[in-house]
Amino acid sequence: MFDAVMIEKTETGQSVSLRQVMKDELPDGDVLVKVEWSTLNYKDALAITGKGPIVKSWPMVPGIDFSGTVVESRTPDFRPGDKVLLNGWGVGEKHWGGLAGLARVSGEWLTPLPAAFSTRQAMILGTAGYTSMLCVMALEHAGVQPSGGPVLVTGASGGVGSIAVMLLSELGYETVAVTGRMAEKDYLESIGASRVIDREPFTHKGRPLEKAEWAGAVDVVGGQVLASVCAAIRPRGAVVACGLAGGMDLPLTVAPFILRGVSLLGIDSVLCPREERREAWNRLAALIDVTRLENVVSEYPLSKAIEAAHALMDGRTHGRILIRVS
Ligand code: NDP
Repeated sequence: MFDAVMIEKTETGQSVSLRQVMKDELPDGDVLVKVEWSTLNYKDALAITGKGPIVKSWPMVPGIDFSGTVVESRTPDFRPGDKVLLNGWGVGEKHWGGLAGLARVSGEWLTPLPAAFSTRQAMILGTAGYTSMLCVMALEHAGVQPSGGPVLVTGASGGVGSIAVMLLSELGYETVAVTGRMAEKDYLESIGASRVIDREPFTHKGRPLEKAEWAGAVDVVGGQVLASVCAAIRPRGAVVACGLAGGMDLPLTVAPFILRGVSLLGIDSVLCPREERREAWNRLAALIDVTRLENVVSEYPLSKAIEAAHALMDGRTHGRILIRVS
């Protein structure tokens, strides 16, 4: 028996509780993992509070990422005792996830824990850190180099944004952080931003092409902010779109693409191929000093995960939320 956060369908919607589960109840999979750490992402909070259509199969253990130790394995890729991490692949949405003492999953979905990280440190980065690395890799593949000029990061004080700022500055880019919270200026500079600018001007509709200022950008906001960023990218630059914190719309013209050769690149961390995700985790291990994120981590035991999800939805949390499972 082990503890699990369980979301169940009811006649009026859903109920969520912490309950004892038997190992036999776990879904199919060739690797059994003793979960040590999980994180609470926006997606998990939507699932737990029922405020978004995240759960696709019932009942569901939420938790889109976790790290831990292999207990049983039917694949030659993993042996008992191996340290592993998992994020995406529909875990916590279609397949039972990380907010439980045990998880049984496909070995195809697991990433060996980079030697540089403890299981806790890997989850301090979590899906947000891994997604930031995918964004930076996409900019690199598009040919955006540190010598090309300054790069922007929007939603910079959030999970994905702040780690993107750290990565880009570590790689030598002049990194400009865009934020709606100018009170975070000192923090953003402390993690590597060369400059911090207010989000407000980006929220207004401008001209199809603005002054070409930025060599590239990582955008987690979407909506008008993403449109404004695209209009101000230098010729042959690139913008990575990975989030919708400010909205799903994209009120944009084609001008940046056909008159400046700007590329708009999408990031999907959930179904990212295995090799690319392993490369992302290994590069994170080489580039990030996780101890610099300790002051933005809040830690909760599994028994408080439901409470933490409500706090996140109500905007009462800040930074990275770690869940200590065992
Ligand atoms: P956070 O909530 O930690 O950060 C989002 C940031 O966006 C906030 O800190 C804030 O930054 C800014 N923001 C929030 N609301 C608004 C708004 N209404 N208008 C403009 N800016 C806003 O989230 P994450 O960093 O974890 O995730 C960011 C986005 O990326 C989310 O939409 C998430 O769903 C998406 N995501 C996508 C993935 C993928 O595979 N494509 C994977 C992981 C996340 P500030 O205060 O500095 O302006």
